[in-house]
Amino acid sequence: VYNFSPGPAMLPLPALEEAQRDLLALPGLGMSILEISHRSPTFNAIIEAAEANLRQLLKIPDDYAVLFMQGGARLQFGMIPMNFLRKTGRPASYIVTGSWSKLAASEAQTQGQVHIAWDGKATNYDRVPTNEQLNIDPNSVYVYICSNETIAGVQFPTEPETGGLPLVCDASSELLSRPVDLPRYGILYACAQKNLGPAGVTVVIIRKDFLDMCPDDLPSMLNYKRFAEEKSLLNTPPVFAVYMVKLVTDWLIREFGNLEKVKQFNEEKAQLIYDVIDRCQGFYTVHAAPGSRSAMNIAFRLPNGDLEKEFLKQAESRGLCNLQGHRSVGGCRASIYNAMPREGVVALRDFMLEFYEANRN
Ligand code: PLP
Repeated sequence: VYNFSPGPAMLPLPALEEAQRDLLALPGLGMSILEISHRSPTFNAIIEAAEANLRQLLKIPDDYAVLFMQGGARLQFGMIPMNFLRKTGRPASYIVTGSWSKLAASEAQTQGQVHIAWDGKATNYDRVPTNEQLNIDPNSVYVYICSNETIAGVQFPTEPETGGLPLVCDASSELLSRPVDLPRYGILYACAQKNLGPAGVTVVIIRKDFLDMCPDDLPSMLNYKRFAEEKSLLNTPPVFAVYMVKLVTDWLIREFGNLEKVKQFNEEKAQLIYDVIDRCQGFYTVHAAPGSRSAMNIAFRLPNGDLEKEFLKQAESRGLCNLQGHRSVGGCRASIYNAMPREGVVALRDFMLEFYEANRN
């Protein structure tokens, strides 16, 4: 079976096999990862290795902290403005390219002043803006983006121009799928359940001078500075999820070595599907405009709802699973994160061509 789910998503088989092999007892310890203390030397080595892997892959400089948090990506929507807007009295500029950035902006409005620098509503959130279209408030603490909108499959090909302001980015559905220019970011974060591991942990990469801005009067669990001071062990972390992030990043390093290679692998996979869609124009229609097409989530439609239902049914019977679009938009969506092998994408491509031949008029 190939699992095209947007998340929780397919994980690399070697990482799952390693977890399975060691589930009853970690080598040399005789206890399961599910049974050990988060303050034990064993877990300490695991969380440090996970951080080291992320630092190596993403080339994270020393002036950034790496945090392993809970509450999903969604907690970040509120926590970021709570820490950086509420007391400063300054605004943040939000670039709204789809459902997730829209939700992040509306959560931020509960905490501070939000300036919408661009909103893609006019074209039904099918593209990212050009730099010329942006209207950024130069007094902003940060400029917020969602680098890959998971639902509509709209991705920034490169970072937008911000006039020197730091980016704050929800990279939930693309972190580790390509290199990033980290010095441009104040915060880069991602929930794990798409490209990093299982649900339960959110990786937050934060520039250390941002930590100095955190107000002292926040509850400790909502304060990045306190979290960083305790090296993510303010309370009991999601031990198993952190362990899986370590195994998944071990695999990435073993298999690819660096994110340039991962990017190439992902772009080639995505191109296989976009090529079919372009060849079968009028039958398959991709939501994203050229130049904003995601390499991770490909959202597309067929000529009508009945054909879409039939497409999904036949795909499922061939082991091509979870291709239905998000419940808010319908249609179809293929999520092809790092763990999706090329063979899975080729199988989908072949099925799409066959279905087109059998159903076109
Ligand atoms: N941001 C993006 C881009 C997502 O795709 C998702 C989940 O699908 C979220 C945020 C929400 O993540 P969580 O469920 O971990 O809060």
